[in-house]
Amino acid sequence: MAAVAASVEREASRLTDLDSAIGDADHGSNLQRGFAAVVKTLEAEPPVTPGAVLTTAGRQLISTVGGASGPLYGTLLRRTGKALGEAGSVTVGELRTALRAGVDAVAQLGGSAPGDATMLDALDPGVEALATSFTAAAEAAGQGAEATVPLQARKGRASYLGERSIGHQDPGAASSALLFAALADTAGEEVAE
Ligand code: ADP
Ligand code: MG
Repeated sequence: MAAVAASVEREASRLTDLDSAIGDADHGSNLQRGFAAVVKTLEAEPPVTPGAVLTTAGRQLISTVGGASGPLYGTLLRRTGKALGEAGSVTVGELRTALRAGVDAVAQLGGSAPGDATMLDALDPGVEALATSFTAAAEAAGQGAEATVPLQARKGRASYLGERSIGHQDPGAASSALLFAALADTAGEEVAE
């Protein structure tokens, strides 16, 4: 979560630029505010299990971020955390299964599917590629975000533009790629230690 917050902080203006092209220019600031609050909450009351880290983070995002991405990312983290349960440590396979439940919950809440040019276009391939490695997951999520450029947005604010949304990367797909990149960076460090 700290790595995600740092990455979102670094990339906030790019995320907002993407959102200014096909939305309302707040995606970067929404996530910056949300993940800063997540880090603050986790530091104030450090949860004792990985699952609790994610459910606490998700709850904080939902209460801090007003835009569509708050409830969607909040649901992703809460549902993933819930699926991890009370375990004190989790394997990559368990994380992947839990993230799958989280991504499915995002699809259900958003009424969306991969191909609609949303965050799901990065989240879905990211989770699938986690079967290979954290690096593969980060690459797949990044490619998934790039692949939204030629797509017409079918959900969220960008869908109001109709065909004019074609040619732009979806901001939420871009931030989802950052999430997987932060996971890969963090997991890589742990393996190296
Ligand atoms: P808002 O659209 O309310 O301004 P943000 O700009 O923070 O919120 O987030 C926009 C992103 O949220 C989009 O780029 C898209 O990835 C994601 N999004 C919006 N609606 C949906 C949906 N129904 N399903 C999945 N993702 C969605
Ligand atoms: Mg927006």
